[in-house]
Amino acid sequence: MFVDLRDRSGLVQIVGDQKLGELRTEDVIALEGTVKARPAKLVNSKLPTGEVEVEAGKVTILSRAADLPFEVTSDGLQIKEDLRLKYRYLDLRRPRLAANLKKRHQMVSFIRRWLDERGFWEVETPILTKATPEGARDFLVPSRLQPGQFYALPQSPQQYKQLLMVAGVEKYFQIARCFRDEDPRADRAYGEFTQLDLELSFTDQAEILSLTEQLFTSLVEQVLGKKILQKPFPKFTYQEAVKQFGDDKFDLRDQKQRQDPDLLAFAWVVDFPLFEKTETRQLRPSHHPFTAPKDEDLPLLDQDPVKVRSWQHDLVCNGHEIAGGSLRITDPQVQHKIFEILGHTQQEIQQKFGHLLEAFRYGVPPHGGIAFGIDRALAVFLGEPSLREVMAFPLNASGQTAVMDAPSPADAAQLKELAINVRK
Ligand code: ASP
Repeated sequence: MFVDLRDRSGLVQIVGDQKLGELRTEDVIALEGTVKARPAKLVNSKLPTGEVEVEAGKVTILSRAADLPFEVTSDGLQIKEDLRLKYRYLDLRRPRLAANLKKRHQMVSFIRRWLDERGFWEVETPILTKATPEGARDFLVPSRLQPGQFYALPQSPQQYKQLLMVAGVEKYFQIARCFRDEDPRADRAYGEFTQLDLELSFTDQAEILSLTEQLFTSLVEQVLGKKILQKPFPKFTYQEAVKQFGDDKFDLRDQKQRQDPDLLAFAWVVDFPLFEKTETRQLRPSHHPFTAPKDEDLPLLDQDPVKVRSWQHDLVCNGHEIAGGSLRITDPQVQHKIFEILGHTQQEIQQKFGHLLEAFRYGVPPHGGIAFGIDRALAVFLGEPSLREVMAFPLNASGQTAVMDAPSPADAAQLKELAINVRK
């Protein structure tokens, strides 16, 4: 009898007698046996282990597997995603997903090493915190010790990383979990995602761009085995991009190049407008409210704010925006004025951002940075149809967690402690 034995490193064929017949698909076993060369006519050149087989000696069944809800050997893309997420621990046995997890691990450990070698410190910033606006809704967590008060989960570590620059850290990074309650969209994950977040002091845009470019180049070429269409990455102003491609997310590959799954086309976009108009003709930041306006456009802040250009920089790859950042405002007066232009009252400014304005009074180095979504970037690099294919336990499209059933009701005692009444 022949049985395929699998662990995370791959498959090997087992040969043995009748007792192998007791094994069922996905049983967990321990096996002692002898590795032998296969007879020439049985060599399978498609398998890395195709020249050998294991002649079974002692077979021990460690744990039996029940009938599976789906098979775990195909790429899985034909199976309903909600079912795959309900049984994610089985779905992750799929070689395609196991390979994605491994690549993600390699990517993150490469980034850590690379930045460490260049003098960056990895610093963790709070998850239970105050709102940091990145243009999405916040997730709120009720406080038990201060009933009626709420923490917000960070949409990004933006304010803390700027405070770290005030603290003199100079070069910071974090593999940071970010939380955004946005409506689900195909090219983003609902709820939470992971960013590589970094910030530098005494820097300029050229340095941030060149550092990011070197990091991405080494990462995709050395770790992921990809090719880059154009080096150095071409750079467009926002105006040029919109004029040439009709959008600030564009794909530089021609039709033929798009057939090559290993080809990545990166480009920078700079000189964004600082503000954009909302439907109600109010202004909102194109990036976030901490992005610095260009010096020469400062006089326009009072006269014609929509004309002000900023120090924002975005990186696009194969038609997706994969990274974004900026040089930051460090002048408390300019920062205050931006909050006013965005329509915040004096009281709101104090309440929401007073800490930052105060910090800037004690000496703040010029600083700037960038962040990119690990999930988004890896999905784009690997050509996966969704970010969820490179996340271990993503939320589904309606915001339900994989495997564990959340959100779910809280029990009465818990709600009472939190001083919360749920309206039916
Ligand atoms: N905090 C920004 C973001 O999450 C990135 C940055 O400006 O560094 O998009």
